[in-house]
Amino acid sequence: MREFEPHSDQEVERRLQRAVEAFTGRRRAWRPERARLMRRAGLMLESEKRGLARLMTLEMGKPLRAAVQEVEKCALACQYYARNAARFLADEAASSSATRSFVRYQPLGPVLAVMPWNFPFWQVFRFAAPGLMAGNVGLLKHASNVPQCALAIEDLFRRAGFAEGVFQALLVGADRVASLIEDPRVVAVTLTGSVGAGGSVAAAAGRQIKKTVLELGGSDPFIVMPSADLERAVATAVQARTLNNGQSCIAAKRFIVHERIAAEFERRFVARMASLKVGDPMDETTDIGPLATVEVLETLEEQVNRTVEMGGRVLLGGRRLDRPGSFFEPTVLAAIPPGSPAQREELFGPVASVFRAGDMEEAVRIANDSRFGLGASAWTNVARERELFIEQIEAGLAFVNSMVVSDPRLPFGGVKQSGYGRELSRHGLIEFVNIKTISIVTGPTAGGSSQRRPCPGNKRR
Ligand code: NAP
Repeated sequence: MREFEPHSDQEVERRLQRAVEAFTGRRRAWRPERARLMRRAGLMLESEKRGLARLMTLEMGKPLRAAVQEVEKCALACQYYARNAARFLADEAASSSATRSFVRYQPLGPVLAVMPWNFPFWQVFRFAAPGLMAGNVGLLKHASNVPQCALAIEDLFRRAGFAEGVFQALLVGADRVASLIEDPRVVAVTLTGSVGAGGSVAAAAGRQIKKTVLELGGSDPFIVMPSADLERAVATAVQARTLNNGQSCIAAKRFIVHERIAAEFERRFVARMASLKVGDPMDETTDIGPLATVEVLETLEEQVNRTVEMGGRVLLGGRRLDRPGSFFEPTVLAAIPPGSPAQREELFGPVASVFRAGDMEEAVRIANDSRFGLGASAWTNVARERELFIEQIEAGLAFVNSMVVSDPRLPFGGVKQSGYGRELSRHGLIEFVNIKTISIVTGPTAGGSSQRRPCPGNKRR
């Protein structure tokens, strides 16, 4: 284990200054050059993936196999934005009463990214790849338990050829975030993390009128109807719940199953959950490693205990494992009491909650009875049920017959207390740009009033 001193105020000041200088330099940088460097960053991730993955596993306990896949996904995101950013940012023709009008997308400046530990690389790259391609510069305040990942990402961008100051890590605690947002040199902020942290950041940014994107928690529903391929649904349910040791915002957490197939679903689900290998995350055959910190373990244990005390039934597991490290048994809960933590809160670990519903309508009602609205998955081969799900589910992502995943090509984000704004795809890239409207009048009457017709509703005085 290594420990790091937080950056001093002077060091933070130096880095902020460097960010401003880098942004000034970048404004002149030609876009194809950015794409070349981003492509190189992607290639470096690919060739260094094993070492980078080990760093993640070491710092937060993610199984090594999953960590390697995470780095590969970051490489894909770099290539995706290197390939597409110029098209996404091209001037866009618009029509108006002027001779010519169009929209130009321009960078904003230094953007602060406050990031969580659960995907120490992926969370950062899904901000950094579009952000740097848009011409912004990045200031990363990573979670305090993954400083080596933060520094490795800074180092990687530097070695890829990005100028000094284009992407920097700030080793500071959460208590420094508000003052960073107040700093006039920071122009916008994106946060991925808990609802509480999101509220604090939004409040601080609101006081300064600075743009924010918030990617917060989730308690994603996973609905299974009788027409589904049950075996495939169960196998995917296990994967969707235990991904990243169960510590993912888009992990399926509430399994809402039609009552006609619920008993069979539970039997197969419990059998598969019980067969998972829990152990050393460095061992490539391990399915579930330890939770990231003792606090995460204690919170989960307390949530399970409270749900059981309120009347929830334990079908599998339910306790921390009696061995060194923050291990929790793969757990399945049923008969979830209304108002219990399994129903109302986000359970960050390998704990699944099974609910029963009489039809798709009831399933969607149970799914929507949550303050979160990030992802949702439904398994059905009935067109009417599919439409009902797509239309009525309160979520930013609705997947049918597959688990919810993030993909550089698709917008990612939530509604309700899961946050606002979008990451990934073109939507993610234009969150942090100035969408500048250009209107040009030329010709003999330019500057006169006869060419300019007011917008409908604009009264002349
Ligand atoms: P967290 O405690 O909110 O921490 C996330 C980041 O915010 C860390 O860098 C943390 O710094 C900082 N932070 C904490 N409190 C803050 C405050 N009051 N003001 C400013 N910054 C603050 O969340 P976590 O436990 O690391 O991550 C798990 C949460 O993230 C879960 O709820 C999960 O669902 C969510 N998440 C969401 C997405 C998504 O895309 N929607 C993706 C992944 C995770 P320190 O580490 O220094 O405390």
